[in-house]
Amino acid sequence: MADKNQKIAIYPGSFDPVTNGHLDILERALKIFDRIILAVGDNPGKKPLFTVGERLGILRAVCKGMKNVEIDSFSGLMIEYAKQRNADAIIRGLRAVSDFDYEFQLALMNRNLDCDIETVFIMTAEKYVYLNSGIVKEISRYNGNVKGLVPKEVDSFLMKKFGR
Ligand code: ADP
Repeated sequence: MADKNQKIAIYPGSFDPVTNGHLDILERALKIFDRIILAVGDNPGKKPLFTVGERLGILRAVCKGMKNVEIDSFSGLMIEYAKQRNADAIIRGLRAVSDFDYEFQLALMNRNLDCDIETVFIMTAEKYVYLNSGIVKEISRYNGNVKGLVPKEVDSFLMKKFGR
């Protein structure tokens, strides 16, 4: 049974695919919260490269053996999902100022929908400031080297996806 004293956070995202930048935020979040639920958002409007099922499989492979991490997916309003899962907080990563405007809007909107769940922003390591899933996909699509940007399992999934 879930321990009521445990602090639970949801880390939602597209994770299409997960990068070392996402994992950097996850590791930092694990120092603050007892349990993190990595939640893949099912948002077909974003035209993802990997299906939700594939993204879940990639995350499970990458996070295998990580204690206090659960992998899940959700569709619909993220704040509703967070409530359902009894989350205390939502984790979002911040890279540059360019993230701020959108993230600020999202956090305030989520607070309007439920004022009990706080959004917690965590700053990325400097080396990941310019890293996002889109860049990784572009590099891999044209056979470039994504070493250091994603875990090696992700590189294998990308190569398979691009038919190599
Ligand atoms: P979304 O579609 O929700 O933006 P992403 O998978 O792109 O999904 O990002 C999920 C979260 O991870 C967001 O809060 C984003 O800012 C953060 N994030 C993505 N890449 C990085 C990175 N390199 N460093 C820190 N945070 C990141």
